[in-house]
Order: sequence, then C-alpha cells, then structure tokens
Amino acid sequence: MEVEQLEREAGNMTSTIAASTAGASAANPSAPASPAADYLVLSNIAKTFIARGNATNALSATNLTIGQGQFVTLVGPSGCGKSTLLNLVAGLIEPSEGTITIGGAPVRGTDRRIGYVTQADNLLPWRTLRDNVAFPLELAGVPVAERRERADFWMHRVGLAGFGDAYPSELSGGMRQRGNIIRTLIYGPPVILMDEPFGPLDAQTRIVLQDLLLSIWEESRSTVLFVTHDLSEAISLADQVVLMGTKPGRVIRCENVGIERPRDIFQIHEHPEYRRLYKQIWNDLGAQVKKAVE
Ligand code: ADP
Ligand code: MG
Repeated sequence: MEVEQLEREAGNMTSTIAASTAGASAANPSAPASPAADYLVLSNIAKTFIARGNATNALSATNLTIGQGQFVTLVGPSGCGKSTLLNLVAGLIEPSEGTITIGGAPVRGTDRRIGYVTQADNLLPWRTLRDNVAFPLELAGVPVAERRERADFWMHRVGLAGFGDAYPSELSGGMRQRGNIIRTLIYGPPVILMDEPFGPLDAQTRIVLQDLLLSIWEESRSTVLFVTHDLSEAISLADQVVLMGTKPGRVIRCENVGIERPRDIFQIHEHPEYRRLYKQIWNDLGAQVKKAVE
C-alpha cells in the first residue's frame, strides 16, 4: 500500500475515533435499568451509489429495529449491502432516503456513540501494538501511564500480553484482529459495529475469538451489530439474526435466537434450537446466495 493512502486512511480513522472517543466518558456502556426496545432504528432506508454514470441500488426499503444491549448479526450474500448498512449507521455515508436514530436522536455525520471495527484491521504499521490499542485514549487526552495500563489490561485479556512492543507486521492475522477489536473495546462505546471481523481467519481461531468476544460482551452489554457471511457464526453469537437479500439489498427477515446465555460456543452446534434455526434460515440464505451470483 502506498504511504499516501496509508496516511489518508489513518486520517479517516483518526477523525472517526476522535469523534467516538469524545462521547465515551459520558456514555455508560453497561445496560441501563430499562433498555430501550427501539434503541437503534433504521426507517425506510435506501442507498443508491452513482459511480461512473452507473447507479447501484445498494439498499432499498430497509427497516430494522434493534433493542439496547442486543447482539444482532447481519447475514447475507456478498454485495447485498451489509457494509453499506454499517457505513450508514456509522454516519460515514448518508442514506438516499430514510432515517437512522440511536436512542431517539438521528445519526448525522460521524457519531460519537459508535465504535466501528472495520473489515481490514487498519492498525497503523508505524505504531507498536500497544500504541495502536491505546490510540483512542491518546486522542481523548488520557495520560500516558493510564493509557499504557489500560492497553496492557486489554492485551492481556485477549492473549496478547508480551506483544505490546511488537509492530503489526510482526503479528499473525489473528493477533492483529484481536488488536483491532480491543482498540474499540478500550473506550467502551455504547454501540459497536463489526464488519466480518473474523472473516480472514482460520476456523479454529475464529471460534476462539467468538468465545472471547461473547464473554467480553456479557460484561458490557453494549449494542452490537455484527456482519458475517457465515450463518453458523451469525446464530452462535446473536440474540437476533437479520437475513439480508440481494438485488436490491434489503432486510428479508429477522429471527430471534432463543438459546440461553452464557453460551458454550464450542458445543452450540448440537443445541436443538441452533439446528432448527440453521435449517430454517439456510433455505432462504441459499436462495439469496444463488441469486447474487446469477
Ligand atoms: P456487502 O458488504 O454485503 O458485500 P456492500 O455494502 O459492500 O455489500 O455493497 C453493496 C453494493 O453497493 C454492491 O453492489 C457494491 O458494489 C455497491 N457499492 C458499495 N459501495 C459503493 C461505492 N462507494 N460506490 C459505488 N458502489 C458501491
Ligand atoms: Mg462487506
């Protein structure tokens, strides 16, 4: 990647994190006494991209309501608008139609209540892992000793103790992805968006990180919107699975996952409710995947 591009990405990321961090201290990430059932609401969202004279209808008539403290997964074929939906919620792009609100307040531009774990890890290559993880705290003006302490706590938590002085290029994909995730968790935003965060990882690493993510989330109960193309991952993690379809991209159905928590991610595939849901959603997902490649 060109240095110029890296600088640009770093700049974009800095403004996103700066905006998010500004509200972090005021926001209480733990679930309040009566969590709102309509905390994150997308009403009649449409998004059309115009590129080189061609219009792409990425999302159409999309409605979604997410309760505060819910873990919601979005599953759908490639190109159905999953990343577009997250970018809209993050305020990085604007809808062509419709509104998005969080806690009743519209999302306008980059929103400080939201942490975004993007698909690419975006760790800054010239910073050590510790300095990458602590970056949001640095932007928020947290003193260096406290930054270090909090970054070391989170690195320890996810099995990265001892790697604080390593540079991203010296770490495996799984380690970089842990760093990417805790860089958001460290400042506790009430809403966390995750775009296929475990996508490039091998099956064993994925399941270990799913387990880790769930145990951390059990404590914070932040509102999570997690994109995956893997139905098994979608059911294992979620309170609610949202199935998206293609041509045009839209929400097709939402299924509640009635499996008790805390969950045993390593055994959940044997749970009768898991099997039932998998079968039920797979029929529709399979049809959408076929449609996407037609
Ligand atoms: P997914 O994440 O589900 O794979 P995306 O949200 O990335 O899908 O893309 C949905 C559709 O919108 C695709 O057809 C994609 O090519 C198009 N698209 C996404 N971003 C842009 C953009 N910035 N400009 C033009 N088209 C875009
Ligand atoms: Mg995507």
